[in-house]
Amino acid sequence: MSVPIDADCLFCKIVTGDIPATVVRETERTLAFRDINPQAPTHILVIPKAHYPNAATLAAAEPELAGVLLSEAAGAAADEKIADSGYRLIFNTGAGAGQTVFHAHVHLLGGQVFHEGLV
Ligand code: AMP
Ligand code: ZN
Repeated sequence: MSVPIDADCLFCKIVTGDIPATVVRETERTLAFRDINPQAPTHILVIPKAHYPNAATLAAAEPELAGVLLSEAAGAAADEKIADSGYRLIFNTGAGAGQTVFHAHVHLLGGQVFHEGLV
């Protein structure tokens, strides 16, 4: 199966290696790398290598791959030794929610104490 790629997409360029990233985990269909502007001591992005504009379109097209993002995020949390202390997974979906890169990704944030609220 061919992987959809968007030539103008920043994260597709990370997948192809045209833009460098600090990769922490990789599978055949996913990549996890450090966020360039970390918002917590651990801030990793887990993405499908295939281009989908957001989590909703990914889940609609490939629900099993959407699940792999969650297991890879859990794996990255274990690698970072933040699984026990706790972490947050965030999918910003749509510009109104703060999405700036329109290639599906989940933020893994941890290594600090979080406030109880979500916003
Ligand atoms: P979002 O706002 O949910 O679309 O998240 C996009 C994230 O991508 C932000 O947290 C950015 O800091 C991050 N980002 C942008 N460019 C890069 C890059 N070249 N390498 C790693 N992370 C990046
Ligand atoms: Zn893309």
